Amino acid sequence: MPEFPGTLNSKLPRAGTTIFSVMSKLAADHQAINLSQGFPDFDCPELLVAHTHEAMRAGHNQYAPMPGILALREKIAEKTHDLYGCTYHPETEITITAGATQAIYTAIAATIREDDEVILFEPAYDCYEPAIELNGGKSVFVQLQAPDYAINWSTVKKLINHRTRMIIINTPHNPTGAVFSADDMLQLEKITKGTDILILSDEVYEHIIFENLRHESVARYPHLAERSFIISSFGKTFHTTGWKMGYCLAPKALMAEFRKVHQYLVFSCNTPVQHAVAKFLDNKDHYLELNAFYQAKRDRFNSLIQGSRFTLKPSPGTYFQLLNYEKITTEKDTDFAIRLTKEHGVAAIPISVFYHQPIYENMLRFCFAKKDETLERAAELLHKI
Ligand code: PMP
Ligand code: GLN
Repeated sequence: MPEFPGTLNSKLPRAGTTIFSVMSKLAADHQAINLSQGFPDFDCPELLVAHTHEAMRAGHNQYAPMPGILALREKIAEKTHDLYGCTYHPETEITITAGATQAIYTAIAATIREDDEVILFEPAYDCYEPAIELNGGKSVFVQLQAPDYAINWSTVKKLINHRTRMIIINTPHNPTGAVFSADDMLQLEKITKGTDILILSDEVYEHIIFENLRHESVARYPHLAERSFIISSFGKTFHTTGWKMGYCLAPKALMAEFRKVHQYLVFSCNTPVQHAVAKFLDNKDHYLELNAFYQAKRDRFNSLIQGSRFTLKPSPGTYFQLLNYEKITTEKDTDFAIRLTKEHGVAAIPISVFYHQPIYENMLRFCFAKKDETLERAAELLHKI
């Protein structure tokens, strides 16, 4: 193919390829155990697959309604009410999306204009900042610091001004595993009260939280819910990251703006999968028991790591565990992640890439959403270092 002859003025000049693609490819190229990109290496429930087949055979193969099929929106409304005591109207306040990534982009595109400021906590999941930039907004970063990655709310308060349009939160938090407390939510409520600030609450790991900690959904706090887009993903909850199915909850006026963008971005999402998920949501035990399922995986991985030169603070949520490697090397995490994959056969994610200006904390993120034998083989290799 000949080269493009004109001048290409990139809209995302600093963006490369996401770390998840980079590390998963490196893992594949070197036949390393892939604990980098977050996805299970075990299958989703057979019943969910059966429901999808049934939906396809029943002829649910054409466009779904723009906001998603009503049966699924009703089930989400019921689940949200049962778990968090908040009522979202299926007709006007719930939209099914092609994963959380599309929901996040849509919420930002629908609300952020040129020069609006958006407060982000970093290390931050990687899709927030480019979405803000593409829509002309300005990211304002607040740093969370190891080992607790807690938020200093007085710092956040000082950054708020008349241009602040949105605050993005993510609990349980990727990549650190940190979770918000009720006090964090009250602080957030305090600093946003009486303002026009919107909240984008990324809650994709709502069902992966440990030690009986309570998931502090924005939906539990009426004064936060009234200004929030809540985003979740069935990819995490049903072990189906490849299905790209998620949803957004928001008060009617916010959802109306969200749908104006959604209808032109994807129009609607995979129809048979929506039918299957709607039916599968009756199996409440699946998501109610997910915390225990993943806590056992976390504990297994962490006990396998004991005695190695990696050190850890158990992750309170998500399916990620940070390991500190300062007893092994002083290399940058980006360099060590590559060497770990190529020379030792285990791929992980360096944390510094989640900062707008890299901070090197000698920390790598490992995904423990894996079969026990995968975790055992990985731990064996990590012990040899
Ligand atoms: N937010 C966070 C914090 C995530 O970790 C992920 C993906 N793992 C997403 C959003 C995107 O979810 P999806 O795959 O449903 O687009
Ligand atoms: N969210 C997943 C992770 O944190 C990866 C998603 C992706 O590959 N974009 O690993």
